[in-house]
Order: sequence, then structure tokens, then C-alpha cells
Amino acid sequence: MNADQLLARTLLTALATGGVEPFFQPIVSLDDGHVLGFEVLARWNDPEQGFIAPDRFIPIADRFGLLDRLLDQLMRTAFSAAEDWPHHLFLGFNVSPTQLRNPELATRIAKAAMDSSFPLSRVHIEVTESGFIDDLTQPRRTLDRLINLGCMIAMDDFGTGYSSLTWLSTLPFSKLKIDASFVMAMEEHRQSRKIVHAVVSLGHSLGLAVVAEGVETPAQAELLRTMGCKLAQGYLFGRPMPAQQVPDALVKLTSATAVEGLLVPMSLELRAHRLSESYAPDAAVAFMDPAGTVVASSTAFDTTLDSNGGEVAGRHIWDLIGVTPDTMAELRASDLLDEPFPAFDEKAADGSVEQVHIRPVKDESSELVGYSVEFGDNPNPAGMAS
Ligand code: C2E
Ligand code: CA
Ligand code: CA
Repeated sequence: MNADQLLARTLLTALATGGVEPFFQPIVSLDDGHVLGFEVLARWNDPEQGFIAPDRFIPIADRFGLLDRLLDQLMRTAFSAAEDWPHHLFLGFNVSPTQLRNPELATRIAKAAMDSSFPLSRVHIEVTESGFIDDLTQPRRTLDRLINLGCMIAMDDFGTGYSSLTWLSTLPFSKLKIDASFVMAMEEHRQSRKIVHAVVSLGHSLGLAVVAEGVETPAQAELLRTMGCKLAQGYLFGRPMPAQQVPDALVKLTSATAVEGLLVPMSLELRAHRLSESYAPDAAVAFMDPAGTVVASSTAFDTTLDSNGGEVAGRHIWDLIGVTPDTMAELRASDLLDEPFPAFDEKAADGSVEQVHIRPVKDESSELVGYSVEFGDNPNPAGMAS
């Protein structure tokens, strides 16, 4: 017997003796931080081997045909635990594509819910597009039946599989979960940000609910919010937890201070950091907030103003170059009229005369967050955060 067979046999015993239990991870509204439901995740603590990660045992359970049994077990335990929780919360269960080929699956799910009097409208089914399935006839039938029973179907790990778009257009999904890998790379990589933004728009244009997975920082949450993403899941809001901890977590996540703490607006510094990627490394550029305080500047900008390169962040722009507080009002007006603010001349520290260009910086929802100030004749035309 090889290691995988041995693990499958141990798992079979664990399933029969309640050794695998459901953990619950909150899925929240990004508008106000309220919990809308939980994803149910399998946790297996073996008395001899200790904690065994789902990434290890789920593929084996799938290969040895144990996932239906696992799902049954998780559903029954989860439904009974959720009896006393607020009745609007949904529970999301993971189902593998192999399981969708089983014509009995919908009946089993319906039976587990009905036995616990748990409304099927609060049952969400997450399907991972793992591997390639050529014949979608039975999976489609299974999902249609689940929808007729009132369940909601989510496409899990969107963007990681071979044929996300084929699946999306062929199967009746009503929710799309953006894979954590894109969300986690968002702050660092412009490309990931663009992918997430595009997926949020794609989902909404298809009438789907969109959930961002793997949200760990307030900055990620804020970025998602500005992209119009409404739902999120991740360590920032709560790790997967045993059923006993759920009532406390619900209280904590609902309190106003918690929500404020989680959804702090993204700082202009962070935006400036992100924006500076779109400029040449030697560009003489600074970013100021709408009131004219410089929040970040490049070294080239600092030395253009002062050959000693003194720090300009934190100072008012009118203390640095030939603009006045009135200029800020003119800037605002030209932005409202959608007209470029005219470039003007400025004497640099080395005595040369250079043009200064000031442009509005907008966030993803076209809200003004500040301005870029750039020296040079041929400046970067990208004034928009993206
Ligand atoms: P998944 O469905 O994508 O579940 C989300 C995974 O991301 C979970 O890992 C969760 O603990 C983790 N996670 C959530 N938020 C964060 C975060 O902010 N940062 C990081 N780094 N990770 C986060 P977990 O529980 O280890 O499960 C791994 C995978 O195993 C799941 O991925 C799912 O595909 C599968 N799985 C788990 N339970 C079941 C189950 O009962 N049935 C089936 N078929 N698959 C399951
Ligand atoms: Ca999932
Ligand atoms: Ca996922």
C-alpha cells in the first residue's frame, strides 16, 4: 500500500468517526464590513499525524472517491452548528468538478439540508475549475438542479484554470471568486491590479456577484472597494475558525470600530507609490494632495528645486514653486471642465528654466485624490491611477 492509499484509508476512518470538522471563514461586504456568509473549509486533525492540510488530503479524497462522504459530513455538522446563527447568513461549500459528474449529488445536498431544516437558498456551492473536463453535460445538469432547488453557484479560483471563460459562459454561475493570487499581488504589481479590475467589471457586466479572495491588508480592501468590488474574504476579516468561535466573530466584525479599522482609506502615499511606477526612473515628479501638500517626490524633483536635494514631502507646493493657493482653485476648476491645466515656466536651482505640468490624479472611480507636479518638456502623459 503506498502513502496515498494509506492516507485515503486513514481519512475514511476519520470521516466515519467525526475526525474531520468544518471551519468557517467570513465573507464580508466591502461597503460596511458586515458578514454575509461563510465559506466552509475542511479541517482534519489526525491523532497521530496532527493537522493535515486540505491541499494534501482533498486531491487524494477526490481520487479515491471520498469527497461526497466528506461533503455530507461537513454539511450536516455545519447546518447543525448554524442553527442559532442569524438566518440571513449563507454557507458556501466546495465541490470538485468530479463530484458534479455524479447524478446523485444534487439529491444528496438537498437531503442534508432538509434533514437539518436549513434553507437551500442559503446554500452556496463553490466549484473549482481544476483540470480539464471535456463533457459538461452532467455537470450542467447537476448545477441546474441545484439552482432549481434554490442554491447559488460560485466559480472558485477564477483566473487560475485553463478555461475560466469557457466555464463561465457554459455553466450557470451567479458568483465569481477572484483567486487570491491576483489579490495578493495587487499592491506590488500593476498587471495584477489591472486583472482584478477587469475581472470585477467582467463579473458585474455578466450580472454576477464578485468576491475577492485572500484579502490580508486594509490597502487591498480599499483598492478593491475603489474598483467597485463589493465582497471579500481573507485574513483581514477573519481566518477560518471552528463553529464555537463564530458567534463572537460576528459580534466583533459588526461593531463600528472594527469596520472603520478594516476599511481605512488608502493613503495618498500608497497611491503616489503606485503611480510613480508609470514614470521614468529619473522623472522629476511629485504628488500633492488636493489641498496642495506634497506627499511624495522623486529625487530628481528635489534636486531640480534645490541642488542640495532637501526633503520636500510635507511642505506646501506654493512654498516650493511659483503657484499660490488660488492656483489650487484654478486646478480644481480646470479639472471640473475636463481641461488640461496650462504648463508654466519655473526657474530651477541650477538656473535653467523648465516647464511645470500639473495634472489631476484620479482613483478607479474617477474621484480626485491629488495632483502630479512634473518638470520637463516631454512629461509622462499618464495622469490617471490605473
Ligand atoms: P479555496 O476554496 O480557494 O479556499 C480558500 C483557501 O484560502 C483556504 O485554504 C483558506 O484558509 C485560505 N485563505 C483564506 N483567506 C486567506 C488569506 O487572506 N491569505 C491566505 N494566505 N490564505 C487564505 P484551505 O482551507 O487550506 O483550503 C485549501 C483548498 O482546499 C481550498 O481552496 C479548497 O479548494 C480545498 N478545500 C478545502 N475544504 C474543502 C472541502 O470541504 N471540499 C473540497 N472539495 N475542497 C476543499
Ligand atoms: Ca472555495
Ligand atoms: Ca478559492
